[in-house]
Amino acid sequence: SIPLGFFGGIGGASKRGILVKGSNYLEALNSVETVIFDKTGTLTKGVFKVTETNSQNGYTDEELIEYAAYAESYSNHPIALSIISAYNAEIDKNRIENYQEIAGHGIKVNVNGREVLAGNTRLMVSENIKFNEVETLGTVVHVAIDKKYAGNIVISDEVKEDSAHAIRELKLLGVKKTVMLTGDLKTVGDKIGKQLGLDEVYSELLPADKVDKLEWLDSQKSPKGKLVFVGDGINDAPVLARADIGMAMGGLGSDAAIEAADIVIMTDEPSKIASAIKIAKRTRSIVY
Ligand code: ADP
Ligand code: MG
Repeated sequence: SIPLGFFGGIGGASKRGILVKGSNYLEALNSVETVIFDKTGTLTKGVFKVTETNSQNGYTDEELIEYAAYAESYSNHPIALSIISAYNAEIDKNRIENYQEIAGHGIKVNVNGREVLAGNTRLMVSENIKFNEVETLGTVVHVAIDKKYAGNIVISDEVKEDSAHAIRELKLLGVKKTVMLTGDLKTVGDKIGKQLGLDEVYSELLPADKVDKLEWLDSQKSPKGKLVFVGDGINDAPVLARADIGMAMGGLGSDAAIEAADIVIMTDEPSKIASAIKIAKRTRSIVY
C-alpha cells in the first residue's frame, strides 16, 4: 500500500504546477544523480528569429525566404515557425505537394513543381547537395531548389531567464551531473553549455542517438542513482519513456510528450525540477 503522506506530496506538487503521475516517481526524485535536458523549448525559449539570410546561385534573399516558408508551412517545429513569420505573407497551400518532414534533418517537399529541401547539413549531405559550410553561432537552415544549393537562413533562439538558476539549484540539491542533448550544431550546443554551466553537452544528435546517449549516461551512474530526462516534446517521447523519470515541460510541450512523461511541469520553468526534488525530500521526511 502507498503511505498516505505521498498523496500530500503529489497534491502539494500539483499546487505548484508540477503534475506527478504516481507516488513511485516522487520517491525516485529523492535519488536523482543525473539530469539530462533537451535544448530547444526546454532550456531555450523555443522561439527562433531569423537573423541572417544568405542567398546564393542567382536566388534573391526574398526568394530564399519564400521557398523556405513554403517548405516549412506544414511543420510546427520552432524552426519552421520562425521562417514562416519572417516571410510575412499568405502561403497558398495549393502550391505544395509531397510534403515530408524528416526528424532531425528537415523538410523535403515540392513547391510549384520544384523540389525544395530545407534543413541541416545532414539533409544536404544525404541529398548530395554541394555547398560551403557557414561559420555562425546560430542554427543554420540550408535551402536547395531542384538539387541546387540556394543559400542558407540563420536563426537564433534565446536561453530562458530561468535556466541558469535551474542548473545551479540542481547542483545545490546534490545532483552529480547535468547534461544537454541537442540535434543542433556543436557550436550552438557548446555556447549554451558554457553559458548555463552544464557538465556535459552532446550535439548533432538524431532522435535515436538521444536514446543511445541516455542509455550510455545511465550506465555511467551508480546503480541506485536515478536519471531524469526533461524535454518539451517534439521528437522526445522515446527518450522520455526510457529515463527513470521522464519530465515534460507542459507550457509549449506536445501532447505526445505529456502522455509519455512521468511528471509534467505545467509552466515553462526548468527550475521546477529542483522544486519537485525539494517536495520529494519533504514528503519522505513526513512519510518515514
Ligand atoms: P533539438 O534537439 O534542438 O530539440 P530537433 O531534434 O527537433 O532539435 O531537430 C534537430 C535539428 O534538425 C535542428 O537543429 C535542425 O537542424 C533540423 N530540423 C528539424 N526539424 C526541422 C525543420 N522543420 N526545418 C529545418 N530543420 C529542421
Ligand atoms: Mg526538441
